[in-house]
Amino acid sequence: MRSEFLIFGSPRIAEDEIEEVVSCLRSGWIGTGPRVAEFERRVAAYKGAEHAVAVNSCTAALHLSILAAGIGPGDEVITTPLTFCATVNAILHAGATPVLADVDPVSMNIDPEQVQAKITPRTKAILPVHFAGRACAMTGLCQLAATHNLTIIEDCAHAIETTYQGRTAGTFGDFGCFSFYVTKNVITGEGGMILARKPEHAARLKVLALHGMSSDAWKRFGDEGYKHYLVTEAGFKYNMMDLQAALGLRQLDKVEEYWHRRAEIWARYMDALSDLPLELPAPVEPDTRHGYHLFTVLVEEERAGISRDAFLGAMTAQKIGVGVHYLSLPEHPYYQERLGWKPEDYPQAKRIGRQIVSLPLSAKLTDQDVADVIEAVRTVVRR
Ligand SMILES: *Cc1c(COP(=O)(O)O)cnc(C)c1O
Repeated sequence: MRSEFLIFGSPRIAEDEIEEVVSCLRSGWIGTGPRVAEFERRVAAYKGAEHAVAVNSCTAALHLSILAAGIGPGDEVITTPLTFCATVNAILHAGATPVLADVDPVSMNIDPEQVQAKITPRTKAILPVHFAGRACAMTGLCQLAATHNLTIIEDCAHAIETTYQGRTAGTFGDFGCFSFYVTKNVITGEGGMILARKPEHAARLKVLALHGMSSDAWKRFGDEGYKHYLVTEAGFKYNMMDLQAALGLRQLDKVEEYWHRRAEIWARYMDALSDLPLELPAPVEPDTRHGYHLFTVLVEEERAGISRDAFLGAMTAQKIGVGVHYLSLPEHPYYQERLGWKPEDYPQAKRIGRQIVSLPLSAKLTDQDVADVIEAVRTVVRR
């Protein structure tokens, strides 16, 4: 057994990232400024998008996208039960009502047929999550959106590298939301980005993200002289700092390199765990690119000889950090009480959420780390 605990989701930080952060500190401008503007341009270029607006989290990105889409009280937004709580909290914060559509049991992504069954006259948007980095069935979702005149807001927190039929995740609808939280594929510590298709949406997002002040208010202390700002609505404090963008800029340089490393680890796990009584991720769908954000296994007690929760404990005892992404949202008391959700109404997400475990998949992992994870799983599971 290894001697040091392997922290789940620990990010790979290179020397040039540290240097960029230090040089940002020395520059005297650490708040929202030129590095954020450059990071927005770089992410837009990487994604092939027209407009990118940086914010301080993906939660903020989702919240502002829903507001900018004009969605609010009385409106319904359809999303997946197999996601992080932030996805539905953002809908609630906008005053709208989240409606869940169950996932496909193989892809673990929202099932377009289930979405169709949940559309009502109040439905205003579909909010798909590219779970684990696997592209959602965008053809079906886009058809539904076109037929029923719905906005698509993509939660791409796992999916910066993901593509579907040649198009990149986050560019299918009006808004694509990204996370640069410490465990994600590209990190800024805390951070997020919104890709917007329409220039008027991008402009509104910028205003909403900084107190509702007229755009480019951050320039008011620059060398072009003091500029007055005018408040045009009650906005939010959701702006990204240059200090965060400094890290993001140098991280983005390595997005493909790190993706290749995670693809390598993924292939290694698929190969080394295939004979065990666990359900491994489905093959990547043709004409898509997986973001390889999470490597998940399903632990079914009767088959694996161990319950999911015992598996989590046994892996920890083997000094391997593991995660659960996610217990289905209807398992949580708040949503049960406020929205009347019941796990059994979303049977696929319920089953997956009670069996799923994420193994470490950071680009930081060494070959020895990967071998240690494999050895631990093989020790813990019945053979
Ligand atoms: C991490 C995550 C979020 C929230 O991202 P933050 O940047 O931490 O706000 C939203 N949705 C999903 C699917 C996530 O994994």
